[in-house]
Amino acid sequence: MAKLYFKYGVMGSSKSAHALLAKFNYEEKGSSVWLIKPFSSPGDDGFVRSVVGLEAKAEIISRTDDLYENFITGTHRTTDVIIADECQFFTEDQIDALRRIVDEHDIPVLCYGLRTDFLTRLFPGSRRLLELADSIAEIKTVCRCGHKATVNARIDSKGDIVTVGDQVFVGGGDSYDSMCYRCWKDKIKSQQERKNKENA
Ligand SMILES: [Zn+2]
Repeated sequence: MAKLYFKYGVMGSSKSAHALLAKFNYEEKGSSVWLIKPFSSPGDDGFVRSVVGLEAKAEIISRTDDLYENFITGTHRTTDVIIADECQFFTEDQIDALRRIVDEHDIPVLCYGLRTDFLTRLFPGSRRLLELADSIAEIKTVCRCGHKATVNARIDSKGDIVTVGDQVFVGGGDSYDSMCYRCWKDKIKSQQERKNKENA
């Protein structure tokens, strides 16, 4: 029986490399793979890229797409496996659709994505995956201090951690850094103390 998989990790944990390697392995054994990713920004060219140089073109799924309909009526109806990157950006309905494909068509669906946002809160797509997946695994990476990184810290142009804002950030010069919860909290505390001094 096919399963729904959720493989989550922080930014920089090479989730995309894992997704592309899984695709490569399936294809090497003669299986056909439908690689998909949810729409995330207008400039997205649809490629899944990894730090180790692998890349592959994915079909972009818009937020209003009925993923089950896409599957049933599209050219990927005969695919052997579905691999999805950036799954945190799928809607809850789209995760439900992936679950339905697994159950009704006995096709494994491998979902890769972030668990939580820059304020340590679950993304809706990730929450639904945690609720529905048969198999949940963490792709691990380390914080600078050596402990496991669990927080996707949003960093502003001055290098400070951002603590307010929208879950999905569009535009601007912000970046992300993955770190452990303690380092994240400590850095927020020290930058708050610095700001208090500057305002004193
Ligand atoms: Zn740390």
